Amino acid sequence: MAQAPNTPAAGRGKSKELPEHLKAYKNVWVFVELEHGRVHPVSWELLTEGRKLAAALNVDLAGVVLGPSGEGTDSAVAEAFHYGADRVYLVEDPLLENYRTDPFTKAMTDLVNTHKPEVLLLGASTLGRDLAGAVATTLATGLTADCTELAIDPNRNMAATRPTFGGSLLCTIMTQQARPQMATVRPRVMAMGEPDRSRSGEVVRERLDMVEEDIVTKVLDFIPDADSNQAQLAFADIVVAGGLGLQKPENIKLVKDLAAVLGAEYGCSRPLIQKGWMTADRQIGQTGKTIRPRLYIAAGISGAIQHRVGSEGADQILAINIDPNAPIFDFAHHGIVGDALEILPALTEAFRQRLA
Ligand code: FAD
Repeated sequence: MAQAPNTPAAGRGKSKELPEHLKAYKNVWVFVELEHGRVHPVSWELLTEGRKLAAALNVDLAGVVLGPSGEGTDSAVAEAFHYGADRVYLVEDPLLENYRTDPFTKAMTDLVNTHKPEVLLLGASTLGRDLAGAVATTLATGLTADCTELAIDPNRNMAATRPTFGGSLLCTIMTQQARPQMATVRPRVMAMGEPDRSRSGEVVRERLDMVEEDIVTKVLDFIPDADSNQAQLAFADIVVAGGLGLQKPENIKLVKDLAAVLGAEYGCSRPLIQKGWMTADRQIGQTGKTIRPRLYIAAGISGAIQHRVGSEGADQILAINIDPNAPIFDFAHHGIVGDALEILPALTEAFRQRLA
């Protein structure tokens, strides 16, 4: 079903004709991930990206909102229009209060079978990954996970590009013989557009054809994450990170000090997690968090491809590295060649005085 041409360039692989019965599938859909009254921001990033795909296909863009009736759901619908949806498919039911695979999969697959979208995008969040896999298997269609780029080829196939072989190659995957073509994208990989609060659109309501007795999982209680210190790297405006160039765990403090003065989040490259110098929620890169801050300060980080894919979306990157040939200087906007153990405290002091 999903086929990988031998080149990342969209449209170069020999495309097979879409079976006749699948030609009715039209429009681009984005799952608007609503949980406990709040929408995951990846949904707005995907609507922004979905708009481009819909324009390339000359079709409509729709949001899919699944949730209980109430203020949170109403506002998710309104916001979906603000971020570019022409239409919202809405299933309101008390069974959709807490995420469970069964009712969400049923609601989504029924919508797809009734209204037939050609593209369906979901965030690669915990919820989105679970739902995407269940929906793709139920519909027997192709799903490309953790995409970094989406495009439309001349045959109207979605070309979904993602890193492979540990990030050393990019592959482009197309679902040529099934519909919808599904993809998940990690938060912050795609840019979020500015909302247009004057926009609205059509709401298409459908029922959830299910009762509580049909669902094997029961939610007994919802306990919010008690660890409020969890890093919010993905949504930070400024991120300061350290790598092996910091040399000793005690030197993590230099990164934390600069982050504190700048009101920034702090993070690191993967080896520091493996050494136990920082917790896993602070890893930046392909197997960690993707960040898109306004400013990223990377100290003692070489800039390996796996780190690069998670950080190059930053507006401005300042690299501090003792080696002028470090790969990070290939994609940093500003560079300081020097010892991070001296430069980090000097920057902290300079900003402390300026921001005092
Ligand atoms: P190094 O590559 O050792 O670089 C240290 C740098 O510090 C060097 O450039 C050196 O010149 C510089 N330096 C040394 N001393 C100083 C000093 N005093 N002042 C300033 N600079 C100094 N890595 C990630 O980061 N994130 C990931 O998500 C990730 N996922 C991976 C997934 C897979 C499947 C694999 C195989 C690898 C992954 N990696 C990931 C690891 C990645 O390949 C690199 O090994 C890692 O990013 C290197 O970390 P580093 O830059 O801290 O260390």
